[in-house]
Amino acid sequence: SFEKWEINPSDLTFMKQLGSGQFGVVRLGKFRAKHKVAIKTVYEGAMSEEDFIEEAKIMMNLSHPNLVQLHGVCTQQRPIYIVTEFMENGCLLNYLRQRQGRLQKDALLSICEDVCEGMAYLEENHFIHRDLAARNCLVTEKNMVKVSDFGMTRYVLDDEYTSSTGSKFPVKWSPPEVFHFSKFSSKSDVWSFGVLMWEVFTEGRMPFENKSNAEVVDEISRGERLYRPSQASRLVYQIMYSCWFCGITICAELSDLSEGWD
Ligand code: ADP
Repeated sequence: SFEKWEINPSDLTFMKQLGSGQFGVVRLGKFRAKHKVAIKTVYEGAMSEEDFIEEAKIMMNLSHPNLVQLHGVCTQQRPIYIVTEFMENGCLLNYLRQRQGRLQKDALLSICEDVCEGMAYLEENHFIHRDLAARNCLVTEKNMVKVSDFGMTRYVLDDEYTSSTGSKFPVKWSPPEVFHFSKFSSKSDVWSFGVLMWEVFTEGRMPFENKSNAEVVDEISRGERLYRPSQASRLVYQIMYSCWFCGITICAELSDLSEGWD
């Protein structure tokens, strides 16, 4: 018997490979020979599958024009498949890099607005993304941007990715309470959104380009922040900068200040 989130694999046909990620290969496919979909094959040992399948039931109910829609899962065989909306223009990071110098400022701003709408919906639904970055957004045929992979890091079985000292942990997108205490929240998603805005306005540069994760932890803890991209107006920079306010930094500054008082 098939539950409503369960897709019958015989309804799927596989076409070309689109890419590969943390969990496995992603392929273009068709659902009932008609609707284009993206099918993610999950490598054995890459994911805590039981937990994900439970969560997929909740994720199925998240529906917004700026979120990549989860259509369903195939869990009655191994490897399991995750079936989502197909996004013609692929990952936002590559999209930005391939169009360097050709995207107008209003196009850059509109990308940020799309992501912001999707993220506001996640927050309204008390859902934390945990890994928002340009590499985790996808672009439609009509150049609309949608947020993808929300909440998925919770199911990754790879310490390099999930431990804040691991080499794949997204330190450069994380506020201090995340890289020190793994305290994820909608507020930490806002911090990541600010870094994503920076990625958009630099047309896909790597934040803190030549710095190691350890150096970034040190720099951010001292209150330093990413510079203003030349494409970003003062107002745009003010908005991204306002995403990087941090209680821990402010506490440290207050404590420095109060030492001079007694
Ligand atoms: P990761 O797990 O590393 O975040 P993904 O598994 O989400 O990466 O995707 C790997 C690559 O596959 C993406 O960079 C993108 O090029 C492609 N891809 C993933 N999902 C889709 C989709 N829904 N539509 C089109 N391409 C996709």
